[in-house]
Amino acid sequence: MTSHSHLLSPITLSGVTLRNRALMGSMHTGLEETGDWSRVAAFYAARARGGAGLIVTGGMAPNREGGVFPGAAGLFSEKDIAHHRQVTDAVHAEGGHIAMQILHAGRYAYSPDCVAPSPIKSPISPFPPRDLDEAGIEKQIADIATAAARAVEAGYDGVEVMGSEGYFLNQFLVAHTNRRTDAWGGSYENRMRLPVEVVRRVRAALGPDKVLIYRISLIDLVPDGSTWDEVITLARAIEAAGASVLNTGIGWHEARVPTIATSVPRAGFADLTARLRPEVTIPVIASNRINAPDVAEDLLACGMADMVSMARPWLADPDFIAKTAAGRAQDIAPCIACNQACLDHTFSGKLTSCLVNPRACHETELTLAPAAKAKRIAVVGAGPAGMTAAITAAQRGHAVTLFEAAPRPGGQLHLAASIPGKEEFKGLIDWFTGQLTHPNITLRLGEAASAESLQAYDEVILSTGVTPRDPGIPAEPGAHVLSYVEVLQGAPVGPRVALIGAGGIGFDVAEFLAEAGPSPTLDLAAWRREWGVTPPWLARGGLARPQPEAPARQIWLLQRKPEKPGRKLGKTTGWIHRATLAAKGVQMLGGVSYDRITPQGLWITSGDAPELLPVDTVVLCAGQTPARSLSDQLDRAGLAHHRIGGADVAAELDAKRAIDQAMRLAAAM
Ligand code: NAP
Ligand code: SF4
Repeated sequence: MTSHSHLLSPITLSGVTLRNRALMGSMHTGLEETGDWSRVAAFYAARARGGAGLIVTGGMAPNREGGVFPGAAGLFSEKDIAHHRQVTDAVHAEGGHIAMQILHAGRYAYSPDCVAPSPIKSPISPFPPRDLDEAGIEKQIADIATAAARAVEAGYDGVEVMGSEGYFLNQFLVAHTNRRTDAWGGSYENRMRLPVEVVRRVRAALGPDKVLIYRISLIDLVPDGSTWDEVITLARAIEAAGASVLNTGIGWHEARVPTIATSVPRAGFADLTARLRPEVTIPVIASNRINAPDVAEDLLACGMADMVSMARPWLADPDFIAKTAAGRAQDIAPCIACNQACLDHTFSGKLTSCLVNPRACHETELTLAPAAKAKRIAVVGAGPAGMTAAITAAQRGHAVTLFEAAPRPGGQLHLAASIPGKEEFKGLIDWFTGQLTHPNITLRLGEAASAESLQAYDEVILSTGVTPRDPGIPAEPGAHVLSYVEVLQGAPVGPRVALIGAGGIGFDVAEFLAEAGPSPTLDLAAWRREWGVTPPWLARGGLARPQPEAPARQIWLLQRKPEKPGRKLGKTTGWIHRATLAAKGVQMLGGVSYDRITPQGLWITSGDAPELLPVDTVVLCAGQTPARSLSDQLDRAGLAHHRIGGADVAAELDAKRAIDQAMRLAAAM
C-alpha cells in the first residue's frame, strides 16, 4: 500500500467501477480536428495506460450551432461513431474508462450561428447570439440527448454534461445572460429548467448503467451570478434527474479572476466542493489547480471530495497514476500551470501540447525509441534545454556527460522560480534535478567545458543559454543601473524604479518588485482579497471588491514600441499579468525613447519633450543575446556541434521552445 491510498482506491458510479479516483478532466486538444483519429486514440490510450481512473474527452458539440467554432468536433453521424469507437477501444484495451463530454457553447461559440437564452453578446465572441424560441430549445435538448445515445453506441462509459464555465446550460441559469420571461426564464425554478431537463433526457438516452457526470458551476465569478442557495437547489435537482456524480466548474470564461493560471493557489477552490458534498448523496469531484498526488490525496483523505479532476497534469505526464501507484510520485513531470503550450495553443488555433512534455498530442510522431547505437554525448549547460537533451538521450541509451558551470542545474528556471506567482517552477527544477540521476548521465557541476574537453565525444550539444542585452543607454557616474539577473538574485533596489523593456521578463521583474509581502499564491486568503473572490454563500457569483496589497515600490514599465505593453504575453495569461500590475499602480508606457540615466533618474522622450522619471534604480530587461563564445571556439577548432535553446536563438526564447527543440534533437540521435 502506498501513501496515496485514497486516491488509488476504486469507486463505483452508476454500476461502473473505476480503478481509482483520478479523473482526467476535459481538454480541447485539437487532435480531433486533424481528422487523424489514430492520433486521438494514441493520446487517450497513453493516459489510460498511465492509470487515469476516468478520462473525459474534449468537449464534443451536440450540433453545429453548439460547436465552440465552425468545424468543431462532435458526434453527428454514423461515420463519427466509427471514429470515436477507435478511441474507446484503445482506452478499454488499456483497462481504462472514458466518458465523452457534451459541450454546447451557446453564446460563447465563435460562430454567426450561435444561440443563447437571450440575445446578449458575450465579451469573448464577436458574434451576437440568436435567442431561441420554444422549438429551438427543444431542438437543443434533443440534440444533446442524441449525442449521449451516440456516445453509448461509440462505446463510451458515459458522458459529461458541461453545465459550467459560462457555456450554454450555465447561460440559462443566471440573469446575467437569461432575460427570458417564458417558462425558461424569470424565477430560478424556470432558469434551471433547461439543465435539469437536459440531464433527465440524457439519463434516459444513456440507460441506467452509464456514468453521467454533470459539471456544475460552484462559483460563477461574474456579476449577477448564482447564489449558493441556487447552486445547492440545482445540485439536488440534477441528482434527482439522474446524474451519477457532480464535477466542479469554477468561473465563467469571461470572468476577470484567474481560475487555473499558475498564480492561483493550489486546490484554491476545493473548499467549495467540500461545502457541496454534504448537500447531495452522489459523489462530488474537486477541480482546479490540483497537480500533484499529495494535493489530491489530502483532499480525498480529509473528506473534501470523492474524486479529483486533473486535466493539464495529464498532458505533462501521461503516467501520473502509474508512477503514484509505483511509489514514484517524485518522477511525475509536474504541470506548472503555465498554459504556454496547452491553452495558449488552443486559443491560437494550434495543436495542444505541453511545455514540460512536448510529446503530449505528438505521441505518434515524437517517439523515443532506444538508440540504434549508443553514443557518447556531451551536453553543455544544464538549463531546461540542456537538461531535456541529456535526459532524453540518456533514456534512449546514450552515455551523456552534462557540463554546468554553475554549482547547481536549472539555469534560468531559477530566475522564474523567484517571481511571486511562479512558485511551481521550483517543482519543475526539482523534477529535472531528480531525472538527472539517470545512470546514463554524468553530471559535472561547476565545470565549464572547453573545446579540448569536448573532443572525446561522438556528439556535442551546446545549451549555453543567453546573455542579458545591454541596450547601451548612456549612464552618468552615480546612476544606479542593474540587470534583471542581478535584481532577481537579490541586489538592493530603491523605492522608485524604471524597467527598460516590457517583455515577459519586464513583467516578471515588475511583479517581483511590486510585491511587498509573501506571494499571494501561497496565501489563499490574501489571493482572494487581491482578486475580489468571496465565498458564494456571502455574495452572488462569489465576487467582492478587489483589495490588493499596497505596492512595495513605485514602478514604471517601459518599452519603445508604440503599443500597449504586454501585448505579446501569453494569450490566456497576459491579461492576468497586466491586471496584477495595474492593481499595483505600475505605470506602463509604450512609445518611449531612452535618453540617458543620471543619479536623478531616467530621462526619456515619450512625446515632444524630454522628461525625467525620478527613479532611484533602472533595471535592464531588454531581452537577451545567445551565449555563443564556446560555440565560436568549437567552430574555430572545427568541432561539429548542435546549438539548442537560447544559445541557438535568443529572440522569442522561452522554456517551451527550448525543451521542445532539445527533445526533438535527442530523439533523432
Ligand atoms: P522579450 O520578450 O523579447 O522582451 C524584450 C523587451 O526589451 C521588449 O519590451 C523590447 O521592447 C525591449 N528591448 C529589446 N531590445 C532593446 C534595446 N536594444 N533597447 C531597449 N529595449 C529593448 O524578452 P524578455 O522579456 O527578456 O523575455 C525573454 C523570453 O522569455 C521571451 O520569449 C519571453 O516570452 C519569455 N518569458 C516568458 C514569460 C512568460 O510568462 N511566459 C516570462 C518571462 C519570459 P522594445 O523593443 O519595444 O523597447
Ligand atoms: Fe501544464 Fe504548462 Fe504543460 Fe499546459 S503547457 S500542461 S500548463 S505545464
